[in-house]
Amino acid sequence: MKFESLDIIDPILRALKTKGYVKPSPIQEKTIPLLLEDRDVIGIAQTGTGKTAAFVVPVLQKLHERSNGPRGKNPRALILAPTRELAAQISESFDEYGKFLNLKHLAVYGGVGIIPQVRALQHGVDILIATPGRLMDLMNQRKITLRDVEFFVLDEADRMLDMGFVHDVKKIASSLSVERQNLFFSATMNKAVSDLSMNFLRNPVRIDITPESTPVDKIEQCVFFVDQYDKNELLLDLIKQQNMTKVLVFVGMKYKADRVVDMLGKAGISAEAIHGNKSQYQRTRALNNFKSGRARVLVATDIAARGIDIKDIGHVINFDLPNEPENYVHRIGRTARAGKDGTAYSFCAACDRNFLHQIERITKQRIEHADHKYHSLSAKNAVGAAAKPAPRRGFGGGGRGRSSGGRGNSRGGRDNRSRGNSGRSRDSGRSRTGGSNRGRGNASGGSRDGGRGRSSEGRSRGNSGGHGRSARGDSPRGRSSGNGARGGRGRSFSGNSAGRNRSRR
Ligand code: AMP
Repeated sequence: MKFESLDIIDPILRALKTKGYVKPSPIQEKTIPLLLEDRDVIGIAQTGTGKTAAFVVPVLQKLHERSNGPRGKNPRALILAPTRELAAQISESFDEYGKFLNLKHLAVYGGVGIIPQVRALQHGVDILIATPGRLMDLMNQRKITLRDVEFFVLDEADRMLDMGFVHDVKKIASSLSVERQNLFFSATMNKAVSDLSMNFLRNPVRIDITPESTPVDKIEQCVFFVDQYDKNELLLDLIKQQNMTKVLVFVGMKYKADRVVDMLGKAGISAEAIHGNKSQYQRTRALNNFKSGRARVLVATDIAARGIDIKDIGHVINFDLPNEPENYVHRIGRTARAGKDGTAYSFCAACDRNFLHQIERITKQRIEHADHKYHSLSAKNAVGAAAKPAPRRGFGGGGRGRSSGGRGNSRGGRDNRSRGNSGRSRDSGRSRTGGSNRGRGNASGGSRDGGRGRSSEGRSRGNSGGHGRSARGDSPRGRSSGNGARGGRGRSFSGNSAGRNRSRR
């Protein structure tokens, strides 16, 4: 099928051609005609399926066709997106697909000054793309009226719920005109999402996009069992040895993102962090640097897991596994976009073990194990309390929270796992693992530099004298006996460095 057969008007067809799109993606093929026929649509579509164009194109077309006379002041289409980045990205899509039309759009989101947004609104816009929080601010200040909205698009509805925006979303929807067309997108469907959709949709057509080869199926996935304190070095090895050029690294907590960036920077690898404690200016700059290749690595909390479309991300690395298994799918969906291949590596420490089980359960697949020199049997075999994040001290909660930036701010969360009893000095040979030296083991008197311990696999750590990575794993037995030695499924990343001599077993 070609775009021409979807009755798309010429100025938009030209714009699509300029983008290099040859044919519509399945979601576009199904959604565009329905929206052009005034139907409400509920689209269940994974990330990377082309869902943005599926609503941007018909919204542009219908607004264009209905435009007569000068532009009114109030927006006629409202697109709600859960994150600032997604809102900015949708705005870019309106730029691109609407470049030959005379329609004006504006993205409003928090983290940047509200005054320029108010001024832009006063000049009139056709299409408003907004995050719920900033839109509520504008509504409360009576700087905007939504009564002329003819199209309402709720993007990433499940994420909206996760982020606690449900009340804002309902409030916003209740101030829209009743006579409007609605489009509701969600990557997953559960009762809460379905209940939310009932609030807006009128007799919707449901479109479930489960292509034969979903983006996730196309991603080469591998899990590395590794102790928490070895994650930094494993990351460095993988990036260097595989010469990765565009890597998105996900961590569990905001402070950790900054630490990983520092660690990479010290190793000569340009990296940027993006998380909820960064200002909007910093977040935009980080994204731009990553997009342009100035930064080789973007280290993110789950705030960047959904909807962000950055071209040519070759690798996603889950430095920490997500505590919400669905987020695994969203995270790794940042690679293998637009028909490209991609690789997702996940680091699984003992405290991540349960998360890995949950991920394998929801994705209904076993993720291949990597055989590598930092392999940790204790991580692989962790069960019970050892397989979960430690309870957060002082908060009474368990593990990581659910903030938009990922797992909240608990500093005691994942990194203070018991580290065995050997009392080896952590700094002996570990000087680069700046990521997680808090609350570590206590057999050596609770010193932060001690208590690192030997795992049950009894692997040899080699010398104790400050040789860092080179001290380990070079031995033929070293730590990489891993899966391979036990004949399990696995992929070899053995040799002197993780990622070298990579071969499938
Ligand atoms: P989305 O799921 O909307 O984030 O889109 C994922 C990626 O697919 C983006 O890079 C789009 O530019 C690209 N894309 C969307 N529609 C098409 C199409 N019909 N042909 C090729 N690429 C597309």
